[in-house]
Amino acid sequence: MNVENVTLESPIVVVGGGQAAASMIVKLRSLGDDRPVILLSDEPVAPYQRPNLSKKYLRGELALDDLMVRPQNWYAEHAVELRLGQKVEEIDRNAKSVRLADGSALTYGYLVFATGGEPRRLPAAIGGDLAGVYTLRDVADADVLAPLFTAGKRLLIVGGGYIGLEAAAVAAQSGMDVVLIEMADRILQRVAARETSDYIRALHQEHGVRILENTQLARIVGEDGVASHAELATGEKIAVDFVIVGTGIAPRTELAEQAGLTIDGGIAVDASCRSSDPAILAAGDCASFVWQGRRIRLESVQNATDQGEAVACTLAGQEVDYQPVPWFWSDQFDMKLQIAGLNTGFTHNVTRPGTREHAMSVWYYHDDKLLAVDAMNDAKSFMTAKRLLQKGLSPEPDFVSDPDSDLKSLLKG
Ligand SMILES: Cc1cc2nc3c(=O)[nH]c(=O)nc-3n(C[C@H](O)[C@H](O)[C@H](O)COP(=O)(O)OP(=O)(O)OC[C@H]3O[C@@H](n4cnc5c(N)ncnc54)[C@H](O)[C@@H]3O)c2cc1C
Repeated sequence: MNVENVTLESPIVVVGGGQAAASMIVKLRSLGDDRPVILLSDEPVAPYQRPNLSKKYLRGELALDDLMVRPQNWYAEHAVELRLGQKVEEIDRNAKSVRLADGSALTYGYLVFATGGEPRRLPAAIGGDLAGVYTLRDVADADVLAPLFTAGKRLLIVGGGYIGLEAAAVAAQSGMDVVLIEMADRILQRVAARETSDYIRALHQEHGVRILENTQLARIVGEDGVASHAELATGEKIAVDFVIVGTGIAPRTELAEQAGLTIDGGIAVDASCRSSDPAILAAGDCASFVWQGRRIRLESVQNATDQGEAVACTLAGQEVDYQPVPWFWSDQFDMKLQIAGLNTGFTHNVTRPGTREHAMSVWYYHDDKLLAVDAMNDAKSFMTAKRLLQKGLSPEPDFVSDPDSDLKSLLKG
């Protein structure tokens, strides 16, 4: 390896230029840490926020500048070197160096993985490599997709998770003919209770989205290499203009794995966000950490932001014990879903009607412990739930499900 710039103070090198990377760097500078920082991203743009790629950006209501975590000149002003369009191909932990796709290399004092996730694609054998079959992860994907969202176009969405549902909502609002297929029994099965799935299914159906659950894709068939229709396992054929595959992501851990770091559902880090090599830390969608006794990985802006900041605090020499209260949101049509906590392993749930029309919250419990709340058009329930979870309080399910009970009273005292 031809190693560049072995300075007295080797820089903090960040692999990946998304939410977690930017949050880490902004926090580091706010702590007064002025060590050299180099950010290496394989995307050609400075760090930006992804959520609106499937919402307002896809609808053409926001520009890329509106998504930026910080304006591009902020980085130079804060002595952060952005190397964009640069893929990191290898880490040499003995030499403490990284090799880039162009063959160059640089040394690090500390290395931070903020590599995010890679969308799962359909296998080529069932049409995944046809033109007109897309995923939606980055701004380049959204830039290709946005002009296709025009009235009358026929869109098939494979996968009933949040990104697929959000894209379906934008498409239906654009006057498109939308079919969404989900192979599980119901949309959002992996992440939500039946009541939340039912609410969101009804919302989409009201807006004309055709949702087919318990339905497997057999293949996408092309004409002249371009997707023209989908064949379902039921034998039904659906004509399409294009397809979006929204079947989740896999954490981008391959570099860390090749470098011999411990991988456990993601790059395994401890409470201070250090990997199995103390000179290497990780944050965001690519990292797994122990939370309430089990190892988890979160895919959310909250986690990327907070864990990025936790990495900065560790690098600045602070004692860090990263124990977040997870939260997440999704916008579909005029519905805002806000989720506080994590419902994994819930044993039962209750629902609470909200005060506004179409407002509802779903409260998840493990025995008598409150785990999480999904709040649809119900910011009050979300805020209360978040604070209850922060305080470790669990209200009685009967109290919560009574629409006349005063949620705020739970936080008094
Ligand atoms: C369409 C969409 C909608 C979303 N909506 C919401 C929402 O409503 N609410 C919410 O909480 N979350 C949402 N999310 C999830 C949220 O955006 C992610 O959890 C968050 O972006 C994770 O940040 P990250 O920094 O870990 O990873 P990313 O933001 O994915 O950044 C990783 C970066 O690393 C780069 N990279 C990876 N490997 C290399 C390499 N070897 N060399 C150089 N660069 C590399 C990648 O190209 C990328 O730029 C959404 C995500 C998407 C895609």
